[in-house]
Amino acid sequence: MLVRKAARMLLAALAVLLPLTALQWAGQATATAAPVPAAARTVYYDASGSQEFKAAVDEGAAAWNAAVHNVQLVPASGGARATVTVLADDGWPRTLPDGFGAGTVYMGREAVNDGFYPPRIAAHEFGHILGLPDNRNGRCDYLMSGHSSPVSCTTTAPHPTEAAQVERNATAGFTALTPGKEVWYDGCFAF
Ligand SMILES: [Zn+2]
Repeated sequence: MLVRKAARMLLAALAVLLPLTALQWAGQATATAAPVPAAARTVYYDASGSQEFKAAVDEGAAAWNAAVHNVQLVPASGGARATVTVLADDGWPRTLPDGFGAGTVYMGREAVNDGFYPPRIAAHEFGHILGLPDNRNGRCDYLMSGHSSPVSCTTTAPHPTEAAQVERNATAGFTALTPGKEVWYDGCFAF
């Protein structure tokens, strides 16, 4: 009796353990097959101080989230610590970066009063947060062209070149960037 009971317990234990082991193997196989990072970096932003621009800020973040995979911009909630603070004032829109995925964004009303599209301004400033410099080439299909693009431009999606650079930045991280690129983070970037 004792032997039979022990055998039943062993079988029951195996029934539990075997699927778990198979799942672990499956997980390892998946991790090995995919060369992408195990998890996208999540950058939390706090837009509670962005006043009338809160929806525009969320729209700018969503545009990046749709274009890149290695980093995602998520509104801070439920105690999540935000590394990006988004504020509003009457100046020119600008970003004070503090490393990759961190800093302070000002949604300045001066550019909005000039007719620039607030969600595009937000996407541009998030571009700085994600390590992109200004690129005043006047093109609407580039976010980082900023105020060099026409005020009629309402594009919020990054150019594929910009998205690719952010993918690389997110993978490399701030410390892995070259000294020349680190200069980007030391100053203030205007729209
Ligand atoms: Zn800028």
